[in-house]
Amino acid sequence: MNTCKFALLPILVVLAMTGCQQKPTPFLAEYSTIDLLIENGAVLDGLGNEAVLADVVVVGDKIVFVGDAEFSNDDFESRVGKRIDATGKTVAPGFIDPHSHGNPLETPEFENFLAMGVTTITLGEDGDSPYVEPLSDWLAEVSEKGIGTNLAMFVGHGTLRDQSGVGMSASPEPETSARMLELLDQTLKYTFGLSTGLEYNPGLNASTEELRELARVVGGNDRMIMSHMRNEDDDQLEASIAELLEQGEDARVHISHLKAVYGSGTARAEEILGILEDARAAGVNITADIYPYSASYTGIDIVFPVWAKTRQQFDVVKVERREELAEYLRNRVNRRNGPESTLLGTDPYTGKTLADLAHEMELPFEDVLIDVIGPDGASGAYFVMNDELQARLLQDPNIGVCSDGSPTGFHPRGHGTFAKIIEKYVIQDRVLTLSEAIRKMTSFPAQILGLSDRGVVAENMIADLIIFDAEKIRDRASYPDPFQLAEGFDVVVVNGKVARESGRLDPAMHGRVLQPE
Ligand SMILES: [Zn+2]
Repeated sequence: MNTCKFALLPILVVLAMTGCQQKPTPFLAEYSTIDLLIENGAVLDGLGNEAVLADVVVVGDKIVFVGDAEFSNDDFESRVGKRIDATGKTVAPGFIDPHSHGNPLETPEFENFLAMGVTTITLGEDGDSPYVEPLSDWLAEVSEKGIGTNLAMFVGHGTLRDQSGVGMSASPEPETSARMLELLDQTLKYTFGLSTGLEYNPGLNASTEELRELARVVGGNDRMIMSHMRNEDDDQLEASIAELLEQGEDARVHISHLKAVYGSGTARAEEILGILEDARAAGVNITADIYPYSASYTGIDIVFPVWAKTRQQFDVVKVERREELAEYLRNRVNRRNGPESTLLGTDPYTGKTLADLAHEMELPFEDVLIDVIGPDGASGAYFVMNDELQARLLQDPNIGVCSDGSPTGFHPRGHGTFAKIIEKYVIQDRVLTLSEAIRKMTSFPAQILGLSDRGVVAENMIADLIIFDAEKIRDRASYPDPFQLAEGFDVVVVNGKVARESGRLDPAMHGRVLQPE
């Protein structure tokens, strides 16, 4: 504090002969300019600690000070570029989404994510990364074009299978397997880990042994496995987790969008959490995330059997095993809460349920699936999850939050997830405290990904920041109208730059393709 300017003249004269002769050292004197000053906000550091009233000072892309900035120091004021008054608001790290989708070459702004407070997304999920070799070429193109959020990239197991010539083989030749492992090893040098999508082709053809071999390469590079597990049905969940835990002996493992399809209740959630807890106690580094919706969203092939998922398989099965296929579809869809619980999201069916379509066409729904849509003919939202079960999972400290959403997917999670966590689970239902919810969406995913300089508001961390009033956060996205941006995240800062403020997007994109450490 420069108290001299407040002093009365006689005192000034006395002081002038004593201490005030030397000018006080300017506040943060080492910086000739202060790019961003966020004043007087309730700072949640992202580690789960209670909010602290503080100023946050940003120089370049870094937080250089968190505390009581000395505003009365005239020299400091003159050095401040942008000043934001956060009185009455929360200042927190930007959210990190450990499972997201989208194409940065088509929608590089990712405003759907920025508007819900997300400053870092992950791509290459579910075993599926861009079919570009080397993947670094694609990442360079993304960097060059610019990106609104930061990107932590994963390499997809299915893509590696295709690129190495393994393809859909269940017992690949040793040379192609070796080529796949080699490609993985090379690509892990600049990506955050391997993603698997074991409910999809071609990944579903992999044996447990193949997955273990991949895990050894991942572990050898100190990376992680992000897994869409083999089967998310309630009665298959234990087996799916067990398979992932085997990979966990060699690498860090993470369950993407944990759910128990058609399972229900908090007791079931506790059983699942118990399995993960026991595994951690036995030394496996396993974490998971969920998205806060009771419907999943994916291709309609999810309801088709493994022997009729591809067009080729399907065309043969349709002729040779039609009755068997129809029965399988009838049973599977009914077990997944029936055809009224499948909401199609692809034109020309968008907005209709499978039951609507069956009614319109006066056909049994299984015939609609076989004769009208086919396994590659649509994507849909499937209302197969139980709110109580998912809410209990969400309360576990080792379960984070993902959107599994994209700018263009016909499901509200792509525009609503992180807003919904605050609006519903913190403010309305009080399932989580605000500081815990913020931790789950910031430092927790940062730690999972191995990002040591993001996800926390502290000196020397990168300035990915959000400013908001929790009471005013609104999730506007719905199933019929999923593309509505979230509201209430007043300011979103990416790498020290204001990327979005009061609903206005900065056309200059400030995200980066991140490098693993
Ligand atoms: Zn998935």
